[in-house]
Amino acid sequence: MEKRDELYAGKAKSVYLTDDPDRYIMVFRDDTSAFDGQKKEKLARKGMVNNRFNAFVMEKLQAAGIPTHFERVLSDTESVVKRLDMIPVECVVRNFAAGSLCRRLGVEEGLALNPPTFELFLKNDALHDPMINESHAAAFGWATESDLATMRTLSFRVNDVLKALFDQGDMLLVDYKLEFGRFGNEIVLGDEFSPDGCRIWDKSTRKKMDKDRFRQDLGDVIETYEEVGRRLGISFD
Ligand code: UDP
Repeated sequence: MEKRDELYAGKAKSVYLTDDPDRYIMVFRDDTSAFDGQKKEKLARKGMVNNRFNAFVMEKLQAAGIPTHFERVLSDTESVVKRLDMIPVECVVRNFAAGSLCRRLGVEEGLALNPPTFELFLKNDALHDPMINESHAAAFGWATESDLATMRTLSFRVNDVLKALFDQGDMLLVDYKLEFGRFGNEIVLGDEFSPDGCRIWDKSTRKKMDKDRFRQDLGDVIETYEEVGRRLGISFD
C-alpha cells in the first residue's frame, strides 16, 4: 500500500491518503493535548502504545461482531483503516460518574451509573464540543434517527465487550467516547480506542490509568497506559 498526501492532522493523530481510495493510513503521533488543546506535550512512545492498544481493542470488538474501520497494523505507529464519511457527533457512555458529568450535574466522582448513560456531543472545537440531543442531530442533518439508533446500540455493545475485558485485568471502564462513520450503507466504528479517549480505574484502588494522568498532572502517563495494556495482554516490546 502506497502512502500519499496527509489529508488531516488532528491533535494526536494524522490521516494519510493511500493509492486505494477506500483506505486511509492513520498515524498515531506522540503529541498529547487536553482542555481544547490548551495543554500540550509530546510523550515518548505514546504513538506506538496507542497504535497497538487501539489495534488490540478494535480486533476484540470486530471479533464480537461490531463493525469497525480498523483493518491492520502497518508499522509501530501506523494502521490501515477504511475510509469512512464521519458523523460529527461524539457518543459517550458512562458506567461511573467522572469529568464533565460531575461538573454539569454536581454529582460525586465515582458514583456508579446503573443503567449506564449515553450522551451525544457535537464535534466542534470552536464551540468546545457542546452537548446535544438526538433531535438536534436529526434537525441539523448530522445523523438520521436510524443512524442514531444504530450508534446507540453499537455504543452499548462496545460497553458489554469492553467492561468484561477490563474487568479481567482488574480495571473498571469508567467512561469512553466513540465516533462513527458511514462505509456504504453501514454505520461503522471509527477513530480510535485508547486510554486517551476513555477513563480506566484500577478496580480496588481506583487509581486513574488514563488521560486524566495527563490532564491532572499525575505523572507516569505512558507507563500507566502500558500497564493497562499489559493487564489486557498487549505486548509493547
Ligand atoms: N472524550 C474524548 N474526547 C473529547 C471529549 C471526551 O475522548 O473530545 C472522552 C474523555 O476522555 C472521557 C469521556 O470521553 O473518557 C467523557 O468525557 P467528559 O464528557 O467527562 O469530558 P472531559 O472531562 O474529558 O472534559
